[in-house]
Amino acid sequence: MPTYNIPKTQKAAVVEKTGAPLQIRNDWPVKQQKDLAPGECLVKLDCSGACHTDLHAAIGDWPVPPVTPLIGGHEGVGIIVAIGDNTSNSPVKLGDRVGIKWLADSCLNCEHCRKGREQNCPHAKLSGYTVDGTFQEYVVSYVNHVTPIPEGFPSDAAASILCAGVTVYRAIKYSQTNPGDWIVLPGAGGGLGHLSVQYARVCGLRVIAIDTGAEKKNLCLKLGAEKFIDFKESKDIVADVRNATGGEGAHAAVVTSSAPGGYTQATEYLRSGGTLMCVGLPGDSKLVTSIFFTVFKSLNILGSYVGNRQDAREALDIAARGDVKVHFSVKPLAELKSVYDGMHHGTVAGRIVLDMTKK
Ligand code: NAD
Ligand code: ZN
Repeated sequence: MPTYNIPKTQKAAVVEKTGAPLQIRNDWPVKQQKDLAPGECLVKLDCSGACHTDLHAAIGDWPVPPVTPLIGGHEGVGIIVAIGDNTSNSPVKLGDRVGIKWLADSCLNCEHCRKGREQNCPHAKLSGYTVDGTFQEYVVSYVNHVTPIPEGFPSDAAASILCAGVTVYRAIKYSQTNPGDWIVLPGAGGGLGHLSVQYARVCGLRVIAIDTGAEKKNLCLKLGAEKFIDFKESKDIVADVRNATGGEGAHAAVVTSSAPGGYTQATEYLRSGGTLMCVGLPGDSKLVTSIFFTVFKSLNILGSYVGNRQDAREALDIAARGDVKVHFSVKPLAELKSVYDGMHHGTVAGRIVLDMTKK
């Protein structure tokens, strides 16, 4: 068994109180092996993606408040350097490279866990929201929920599959579409969105991407979207989608826009029997849609929330084989504040991945 030197303190990005400025601290404590509970493991992180959810958490614009002080982050990849004493039947061991996803832990015994909806477990622990996340060098996680990273798949390329990838993979999986169907992807140039374009293509779907600006347009078209609609330039998004689909509208939409605008026309441009998958999480907005046409067109409106352990493995497997690639740039943790600024202004095409090994 390998042995690891575990320092007493580490670098971490900390939000003391919701809405307070982000601080980069060098004196944040590292939980030591003897203090890990059974089932807990300590992961030394290589890197972590930065998700728009982390920005929602730092600002506190969701109706469910995060813990404070808050260490965000839930797209981490690293090596297991310690496991709590008396952990039985651990599916992972010291030295394994694993991923940390939003769902850090769930009981695995309640009705939701038994039905495969682990993310809805009432005992769920959420990385970077209810437990410390991956914007630190060492994170405590849980042996039953960390996700093994396929061999040879680089950590920085894998990181954003653990939230963005698994989330859109699951949403498309349950979108009731068949190969050859049309899918509309509002938010397509963002972190989740650019992966949704690719997973949709893997599923044989025809993609209409909606976002704004030349950089996101080029990215979406390069990744296989057949049509790009700029939501700031289009005079009529519903008409644009209908025209692109031969008049009937799309079979499904997976909305990953963090702003409510991405939802506004979604049910209108779906054809009869179509499915709206709600993924993006504007905190205080209502979904407004015609009750009459929801019934008349037999529409399905579903929420889709991250994914379970199996979804994570499937999403990673597809990406590790090269069929889906995260479009990312790497920055040090110290630049997280500017990453949030970019996300807030909608200027990040794809994802930013933070290198946790850089001093
Ligand atoms: P991001 O900032 O990288 O991407 C959001 C994209 O939406 C941007 O490209 C932006 O230009 C685009 N957008 C804004 N307004 C739009 C509009 N009116 N129409 C079309 N596109 C529009 O964010 P992200 O990290 O991809 O996260 C997106 C959202 O998904 C966030 O709200 C996040 O909290 C949420 N999320 C949900 C889950 C889940 O389980 N359901 C998981 C992860 C993230
Ligand atoms: Zn996320």
